[in-house]
Amino acid sequence: MNSAYLGLGSNLGDRAAHLHFALEALQPRRVSPFYETAPVGFLDQDAFLNCVCEIETALSPWALLRELHRLENLRERQRPFPNAPRTLDLDILLYSNTVIRSPRLTIPHPRLAERAFVLAPLADLVPAYRPLLDRLSGQQVQRLDATAAGPFAPPSPR
Ligand code: ADP
Ligand code: MG
Repeated sequence: MNSAYLGLGSNLGDRAAHLHFALEALQPRRVSPFYETAPVGFLDQDAFLNCVCEIETALSPWALLRELHRLENLRERQRPFPNAPRTLDLDILLYSNTVIRSPRLTIPHPRLAERAFVLAPLADLVPAYRPLLDRLSGQQVQRLDATAAGPFAPPSPR
């Protein structure tokens, strides 16, 4: 088994329902809080809901990518242009200590260190990423109340 960190995002339709659908299918070991985040790249679109989860998987990175595309397609993900609004976006951020450099699969995710909407929830699960997040300023990310994550809300700190 390998551990992987996945980035989940949605800004079209019932965003929380899309994320919950993916989490239900992925059965993650841990899930970050949900974040409301401003769009990056193509700015004229609605805000995103993002989170990061940690999974244990027997799938290879390529098989995992295929499975993530299958789940995206089940939510009728369309790809009219890069950075278009999406019902469900599932990205592999990290896969054990694997490095892959192919246009169709790059791990660690190439834009991981530039995106507060990825680093903030990732740092909630892996505090070592916190310094990378602290370098980024001006990107709007807002951690939501634990109820936003519904059944996948992380246990509240004791
Ligand atoms: P976005 O870059 O906005 O997430 P898509 O979800 O449409 O766009 O992904 C475009 C392509 O990026 C995918 O078809 C996939 O082959 C490729 N890709 C490269 N590396 C990764 C990764 N680490 N996780 C997910 N997709 C990746
Ligand atoms: Mg993607």
